[in-house]
Amino acid sequence: MNLSRLAGILKERSQPQYRLAQIKRAFYMEYLSGWEALTTFPKALRETLASELPWNVLTPITTQKSSSGDTVKTLFACTDGKKIEAVLMRHEGGRNTVCISSQVGCPMGCGFCATGAMGFTRNLTRDEMVEQVVYFARELKIEHAHITNVVFMGMGEPMHNYEAVLAAVRLMNDPEGLNFGARHISISTCGIVPGILKLSNEPFQVNLAISLHSAIDATRSKIMPVNAVYSVAKLMKAVDVYVKKTNRKVFFEYLLLDGINDTRAEAEALARLLEHNFRLFHVNLIKYHDTHVYTATETRKRIQFMSWLQEMNVPVTHRRTFGEDISAACGQLAVTKAEEDKIIAHKRKR
Ligand code: SF4
Repeated sequence: MNLSRLAGILKERSQPQYRLAQIKRAFYMEYLSGWEALTTFPKALRETLASELPWNVLTPITTQKSSSGDTVKTLFACTDGKKIEAVLMRHEGGRNTVCISSQVGCPMGCGFCATGAMGFTRNLTRDEMVEQVVYFARELKIEHAHITNVVFMGMGEPMHNYEAVLAAVRLMNDPEGLNFGARHISISTCGIVPGILKLSNEPFQVNLAISLHSAIDATRSKIMPVNAVYSVAKLMKAVDVYVKKTNRKVFFEYLLLDGINDTRAEAEALARLLEHNFRLFHVNLIKYHDTHVYTATETRKRIQFMSWLQEMNVPVTHRRTFGEDISAACGQLAVTKAEEDKIIAHKRKR
């Protein structure tokens, strides 16, 4: 829902202030699906509002479920026809994480990432980001489940859309919005130093994840163009400032690429980079999900890499893969030509 526009319409119609709070409650807390479900409103007002403002800013076009049933990927069309994807991951034990997009495409061009290969189209608005969460909250409500975590790890670089991302976090955190604890929200960046420094001054206790993928500049520059601007040293300096100011743990994402960043020398460089603060640093090793560019490090070598890090006392876990068979895993989100065609067909039908 476009909240700013809604506030304007209610003002133009001389509606009392409490109407906005009522609609926010219906949308963000009760997860109602449309104006027609807002039966506490006078019918005439409901119809007027419906004629002036669509309930949703995103339209789900297709949904794919992984063969294991624990991952759902939805393709959405924005009101201008641009497409984005978001993913729901169902963990054992009842946790439900939504991975949301912050941009249409991405300008960062990381070599292992399908979104990067799409190029950049535009930033998403606050409402487009929050609505990805609302959509899955509605779906889960049917089975009396709820979302427990939100991660900005879908399409786009959140720090390049900083103000809107922070506005989305505020709305998620707002008791009149999703009322969702900031500690359950994670922002992932490929290493945009000014964004990390800005985040260190925010009052929110969100989690920060860094897409690191190598602690050696020569390797990292090969797979992540951002390293030419923000080298490993510059990145770590910013991370240290962040940790000093917030005293919060930082997660380092490390995708294992065969023969590129999975050697003993890479493990040693990673340990050296983080050893000054093992208490607040944590490495997540991730399997490379095929985007037809690199070869994934095989399981035996991934285990080996992990045990090298453990020997050097690096806090490390191997992150579970979700939804690889539906291209919903890390680095796989991208809108394909076939999906674009479906959206065009869908729009023609309306
Ligand atoms: S990994 Fe993230 S920052 Fe890099 S291209 Fe993909 S979406 Fe963009």
